[in-house]
Amino acid sequence: MVNKSTGAILVLSGPSGAGKSTIINAASDQIGEYYFSISTTTRAPRPGEKHGREYFFVSREAFEEDIKAGNFLEYAQVHGNYYGTSLKPVREALDAGKLVIFDIDVQGHRLVRAKMDDITTSAFITPPTLKELEKRLRDRSTDSETVIKKRIENAKEEILAVGEYDFTIINDTVEEAAREFIIVAKAARLKQSKEEEAAFIKAWLG
Ligand code: ADP
Ligand code: 5GP
Repeated sequence: MVNKSTGAILVLSGPSGAGKSTIINAASDQIGEYYFSISTTTRAPRPGEKHGREYFFVSREAFEEDIKAGNFLEYAQVHGNYYGTSLKPVREALDAGKLVIFDIDVQGHRLVRAKMDDITTSAFITPPTLKELEKRLRDRSTDSETVIKKRIENAKEEILAVGEYDFTIINDTVEEAAREFIIVAKAARLKQSKEEEAAFIKAWLG
């Protein structure tokens, strides 16, 4: 049997306020060793957010320097700010055989698919309805009214991409959504890269 050496990617998308962070936290001790990709962004930190934990918070100038230097696996503008995934830590985690989890938007998902389709699994996470999303964004009390309105408008666009994902997780109760997320994370680990597949076939044939 060929050992699995390359890691795998699990992309999570869904409107801001869908419950992605909540679900990852609820399931984190049941999905084995993983690396959560910390994105870089030009948006301002929310109260309680810490540089290097939720995001690397940088200026537009610094972000644009990184784009020029080719440091991003993918990046996009979301709600008027830049968000991007740095290539280096992702490469290192994949080389170490880890499951790499991304919380990125639908544009980022398309870019990761284009570059690393063979090892990518994706799930779209959403509350049951737009109304419930709006309620959760207000209850979270981390964003101004203007920002909430912008996120709701963006969510109406994002939901149209739900069919591009392997799985949809409806976040009605955290418990049930976390249970489904654990199944998806386990399935994601089983994806083989093209190289692994070739090596497996060669070894299998003997
Ligand atoms: P995201 O990471 O997708 O932006 P969060 O995990 O921050 O979303 O969740 C948004 C808000 O909704 C938070 O205040 C969170 O506590 C709440 N929330 C998450 N899941 C549920 C749920 N199943 N039922 C009720 N509230 C929820
Ligand atoms: P928030 O501001 O609520 O943290 O995130 C806003 C949106 O940006 C979410 O949809 C989130 O998935 C997305 N996002 C976060 N990091 C990245 C990233 O590195 N790349 C892309 N393309 N989207 C990201």
